[in-house]
Amino acid sequence: MQVIILGSGSPLPDPVRAGPSTLIRTTAGDLLFDCGRGVLMRAAAAGSGAGMFRALLLTHLHSDHISDLNDIFTTRWVLSFAPNPLPVFGPDGTAALLRDTEKMLEPDIGYRLAHHGDLTWRPDAIVTEVDQGVVFEDGTVKVTAAPTDHAPVRPTVGFRIDEGGRSVVISGDTVPCAGLDELCADADVLVHTVVRRDLIEQIGLPRLTDVLDYHSSVPDAAQTAARNGVRALVLTHLVPAPIPGTEHEWLDQAKEHFQDEVVLATDLLTLDVNADLF
Ligand SMILES: [Zn+2]
Repeated sequence: MQVIILGSGSPLPDPVRAGPSTLIRTTAGDLLFDCGRGVLMRAAAAGSGAGMFRALLLTHLHSDHISDLNDIFTTRWVLSFAPNPLPVFGPDGTAALLRDTEKMLEPDIGYRLAHHGDLTWRPDAIVTEVDQGVVFEDGTVKVTAAPTDHAPVRPTVGFRIDEGGRSVVISGDTVPCAGLDELCADADVLVHTVVRRDLIEQIGLPRLTDVLDYHSSVPDAAQTAARNGVRALVLTHLVPAPIPGTEHEWLDQAKEHFQDEVVLATDLLTLDVNADLF
């Protein structure tokens, strides 16, 4: 199993960080978690693509985590030579999101159906709304969901992927909570979205300080990892994006609370979970 960070960024546009998205490469295929800005550009660099995703799993419906859903929906359709509906798993509201995305794309769908003689089917998705428990199984791969706490954004979920005795957890956006703890128990890798509380407080803009009450800080994420026996912590969704040369500050803040491996994500960071980690 591999973890490939497709986008390590946040809602703030950044020249080198795409929006939040993580690819988990398994024997069942590529599982895509969230689909922020630029996801298909990064997927192409990772040797994947819209037509190859075994499933798309959404942690929540905040725009930065779903901004390129329409690109996946359309590209999977126009680049397939037979109907290839996209399996999508996400919290309540996901089915409506897919319906509305299709509605938004209706003019384009009409243009392409009229223009391409061999394209005789519409784009499609198979949506499963999830809250907790096992949501996906294929061969030796199992994905489990649990509720997280990103209030007032509700509902939100985190995911755990298990394969061959190895495990990866995708936190999504959340403050520390029981649901995330449950997913993290003895996990090999925790991919956790974080914000830097100290820097955001220094900047002092109310629009930015507002985000502190529904995100985990770096110490919060490190404490979640330590409390649950995680082997390696990957910090992603970095707000504000690290200024080059300050990466050690993020790692130092985490290492005060978590003694094992900590990695600061960059786009296309790839971890082989089957090998000895790092
Ligand atoms: Zn969010």
